[in-house]
Amino acid sequence: MIMLEPHSFAHGRWIAPGANAKTIASPVTGAAIARAGGSDLDFGAMVSHAVQTGGPALRAMTFHQRAKMLKALAVYLDTRKEGLYAINPLTGATRRDGGIDIDGGIITMMVIASKGRREMPDGHVYIDGDIEQTSRKGTFLAQHIATPLQGVAVHINAFNFPVWGMLEKLAPTLLAGVPAIVKPATQTCFLTEACLRMMIESGLLPEGAIQLIVGGTGDLLDRLGAQDVVAFTGSADTALMLRSNPHIMRNSTRFTAEQDSLNASILGPDAAPGTPEFDLFIKQAASEMTVKAGQKCTAIRRMIVPQAQLDTVSEALTERLRKTTIGDPADDPRMGALVSAGQKADVLEKAAMIGIEAEQILDASAFDLPDGPGFVAPMLFRCNDPDAAQNIHAVEAFGPVSTLLPYRDTAHAAELANRGQGSLVASLITHDPQVAREVTLASAAWHGRLYISDRDSMAEGTGHGSPLPHLVHGGPGRAGGGEELGGVRGVLHYMQRTAIQGSPDVLTAITGQWVPGATEKPAPQHPFQRTFREIEIGETITTDPREVTLADIEHFAHFTGDTFYAHMDDDAAKANPFFPGRVAHGYLLLSFAAGLFVQPDPGPVLANTGLNSLSFQKPVSPGDKITVRLTAKRKTQRTDDYGEVAWNVTLYNQDADQVAQYELLTMVSYER
Ligand code: NDP
Repeated sequence: MIMLEPHSFAHGRWIAPGANAKTIASPVTGAAIARAGGSDLDFGAMVSHAVQTGGPALRAMTFHQRAKMLKALAVYLDTRKEGLYAINPLTGATRRDGGIDIDGGIITMMVIASKGRREMPDGHVYIDGDIEQTSRKGTFLAQHIATPLQGVAVHINAFNFPVWGMLEKLAPTLLAGVPAIVKPATQTCFLTEACLRMMIESGLLPEGAIQLIVGGTGDLLDRLGAQDVVAFTGSADTALMLRSNPHIMRNSTRFTAEQDSLNASILGPDAAPGTPEFDLFIKQAASEMTVKAGQKCTAIRRMIVPQAQLDTVSEALTERLRKTTIGDPADDPRMGALVSAGQKADVLEKAAMIGIEAEQILDASAFDLPDGPGFVAPMLFRCNDPDAAQNIHAVEAFGPVSTLLPYRDTAHAAELANRGQGSLVASLITHDPQVAREVTLASAAWHGRLYISDRDSMAEGTGHGSPLPHLVHGGPGRAGGGEELGGVRGVLHYMQRTAIQGSPDVLTAITGQWVPGATEKPAPQHPFQRTFREIEIGETITTDPREVTLADIEHFAHFTGDTFYAHMDDDAAKANPFFPGRVAHGYLLLSFAAGLFVQPDPGPVLANTGLNSLSFQKPVSPGDKITVRLTAKRKTQRTDDYGEVAWNVTLYNQDADQVAQYELLTMVSYER
């Protein structure tokens, strides 16, 4: 067996394990598999390298450029991932477990990249919310923006997901424009190192964007300041110790933690044996206990079932779990090993604490358990008095350990779920939407994610235990109080939100998006004849007026079938508080507006792809004359051939009163 020697990657250099490196033993055979850490790293130089080289290079790129870089990185890893699967069994994980870690990590990076392209601007400033109208005449406005922090993100990761744990934090960090120093858990750092080495070898990242610490963090945290972030995953004790660091507290260094979590799953009162929901609950419960040998921060630790179903659930789950094959992960059994002998000792100790309050109804005697140092059997407990129990709701045995708890009614079920004091996820299996609503209102505040499944959705369900890049991952209280992922929300953790106050011209210059009231430039030719590159933000055309006649309204009503009384019946319209009498259809006005501003000849405008924020602000009566003003508001590159131009469209009447406003979206070619 070759001894792995994971290196640190600091200020552009690979650094071998030092004299005091730790030996890592295989959880399967006990043989030494790696030497890690012990090198004398210069943490000051690492921070400087990140802040002075990595940060400026990343910030020079736009959100879209960074998103493209992430996508290329994910594709690069995807083509080389078998190299990671080859060493995955050394962590005790089966190939299926590795799929969550390796493919899960790559997919997470891809999704974050795609969200960056679709939901963030192709610029340097993220616009947060709408313009705030803080002046009567609109000459002094405000806009919240977010810009990348100018420090470094230190990622301290847990042993259980050496690849996903790194990539799920790196993707939002790099998309934000912030360099990272990754510190994986030592026990599985060789897999993290192999993945990070691929990323460096890809040449896709700017110098200083990522660095790796194998081993301890030395005085790194003492060097962090106001622009830095620590994102931690691991035990509550370590999180408490690290977040209490005086430098971190004094500088208000952002600290986000994802730590222990006593996740629960509730079987709905309607989900009796024989229903698809009952079967789903049993299947999900067994899977959550055995995937990654239960070493998942989202695994179900407490199964909360109706009192009347306790026996049936106990029997069905025990029977299913008995079929679990346990063995060398390289042989692809159902369940592999815990990560180390130390972790096994910890799990057995915690299981014993649970055993004080609950009867163990499934133990190792039911399994053919291999000898290796990391192997344990699924351990299922049953607690008849969950109200009196303490340990069940407080002790996280980070392995294939779970406890069944009976409940009286849905309020009691939610109360028991909440006794975990804050969790990453709770699930509810019910086909009764009213039960779903009751449990949600009673418990959502205690959980980062609520996973509600039934016969209608289970085929497409993403799984209780799977954090998705689109959704917030984190939870209140005991779960650490942090939030990761959640699409753009996760990116914003690495950015500073700032309220910018100023004139419309100032806000336009900062955001790159035209703000109503800012200077309008006369378009040198019709904007629909200008290519994406030629169109300048603020370019405006104002159309000739067009009178709206009663005949137009009649025609439109009969042509479309929209004979709503406000357009057809003068008396009925007058009785309505909004209308002076018969008025034009809003959609007629939109159609007239298009007829007024459109340039009909073939040209760079390829398609009208939508319309945002439409509001009809004043009724238009027969005889009114409307004029349209079209201003280029925002440009976003979409493909290599064309981009999206958003136009601010305003309709006025003959008295210069604004009658309607919307944002028109067009796809415009780069070339003529
Ligand atoms: P730890 O909290 O000990 O370790 C987590 C990370 O913190 C590792 O990278 C570790 O590095 C690092 N670390 C530990 N001490 C320090 C320090 N003083 N300074 C800087 N970094 C430090 O958790 P474990 O991984 O050992 O797991 C212990 C328990 O935590 C599990 O049994 C489980 O109960 C819980 N856990 C919960 C998770 C969750 O997401 N809910 C995930 C993983 C664990 P190193 O490995 O080098 O010590």
